[in-house]
Amino acid sequence: MIPYGRHEVTEEDVEAVISVLRSDFLTQGSVVPDFEQKVADVVCSRYAVAVNSATSALHIACLALSLGPGDILWTSPITFVASANCARYCGAEIDFVDIDPATFNMSVKALAEKLEKAKAAGRLPKIVVPVHMGGQSCDMEVIYNLSQEYGFRIIEDASHAIGGQYKKTPVGSCKYSDICVFSFHPVKIITTAEGGVAVTNDKKLADAMALLRSHGITRDVGEMTNPPDGAWYYQQIKLGLNYRLNEIQAALGRSQLARLEQYISKRRELAYYYNRRLANLPLSAQLQHADAASSWHLYVVRLHLDRIKFTRKQVFDDLRACGIGVQVHYIPVHLQPYYNQLGFRRGDFLVSEEYYAEAISLPLYATLTRAEQDLIAGHLETILAK
Ligand SMILES: *Cc1c(COP(=O)(O)O)cnc(C)c1O
Repeated sequence: MIPYGRHEVTEEDVEAVISVLRSDFLTQGSVVPDFEQKVADVVCSRYAVAVNSATSALHIACLALSLGPGDILWTSPITFVASANCARYCGAEIDFVDIDPATFNMSVKALAEKLEKAKAAGRLPKIVVPVHMGGQSCDMEVIYNLSQEYGFRIIEDASHAIGGQYKKTPVGSCKYSDICVFSFHPVKIITTAEGGVAVTNDKKLADAMALLRSHGITRDVGEMTNPPDGAWYYQQIKLGLNYRLNEIQAALGRSQLARLEQYISKRRELAYYYNRRLANLPLSAQLQHADAASSWHLYVVRLHLDRIKFTRKQVFDDLRACGIGVQVHYIPVHLQPYYNQLGFRRGDFLVSEEYYAEAISLPLYATLTRAEQDLIAGHLETILAK
C-alpha cells in the first residue's frame, strides 16, 4: 500500500538520537533549547516553546492567553479535532466558522459576517484559531485586521504548515498572530515522533507557556513570592502540566529540521506534478492563494460528483483496493458525537459538509516517486472515466 503520508528517518537522524542516548541528559538538557532556537530561526519568530505534541501546544497557548469558562474560541470545522478541543480543556465554549469552498481554509467572509452578528449578540470570541489546511496559510492579514476591530486574539494552527510562507514571510513569524503552533507527528512535514512547538514574538506569552509545560514550576528567584530556602528551592506558581519534549525527540527534530527546505521543494514539485497530471479530470485541487506558498502537507482534491458515476466512498474504496492509501481530511469537527452533545448539528456548516462529501487526500510525502504518482493518477483516470 502506498500510504497517504510517510516520515523519513535517515542515518544522520539515527546517529543524532543515539548520541543523546549516550549522553548524560535524556530530558531537560541542552538539546531542547537548541532545537527551539533553530525552529525560531527558521520560522522567524522571537521565541519557541517545544512540547510533547501540537495538541499540548494549543492547550498551553490557550491558557497563556487566559482562555477560561465564559470565553468562546472559534475555529474551522475542517481540521483535526485538537484545534477545537483546546478550548474545551480550558472550560471555554467552542464555535466554528465555515470554510471557503476553494481553499478549504476558514472563510474570511464568513468570519467577518459571524463577528458582526456576535458583536450584536454580545458573544464575541476571545480567541480565533485559523487552521492552515494542507499547509496553505489562511488569509492572515485580513484575520488580523478583524482581530483589531473586534478585539480577539489569534492562535494559528500551523500543524501542517512548517516551511510554508505567507506574503513572503515564513508561517510562524507571527506578524499577524499572537502564537503559532506546529506539529511534529510523523505524518507532518518533519517529525520528533510525537511533538510540537508554540512560537511567538511576545516574551510574556513565551514565559507563560514555558512555565505551563513544566508543572507551573519556576526556579527563577524573580518570580518567587519569597527568597529561596536554599539551593534546592523551587516554587509552583501556576497549575501547569507535564508537556515537555525530551532530548531524544529534540535531537531527532533538530536533525530533521536541517532538511526542511529540501522537503518543501520536493513536496512542491510532487504537488505541481499532480496538478498537471490531474488537470483534465472531474475534480478540483485546493486553490492556491497568490499570497500563500504552501508547505504541501496534503494534496486534497474535491471530486465533481455531478460529473462521475460514483460517490466519494466508492472512489475511496476503489483506490484503497488498488493499494493506494488515500485518506479524508477531515470529518467536520461539529459532526463528531462529542460536539453533537454540545448542540452542534448536521446543517450547521454547509460548505464544510459539502466539502466533506467530495474530499480525498492523495498520497504526498517527500520520498513519493514519480512512478507512484503516475500509478495513482492512472487509477484515478480509470475510475473517474467509468
Ligand atoms: C496533527 C494536527 C494536530 C495535532 O497534532 P499532534 O502533534 O498530533 O498533537 C492539530 N491540528 C491539526 C490541524 C493537525 O493536523
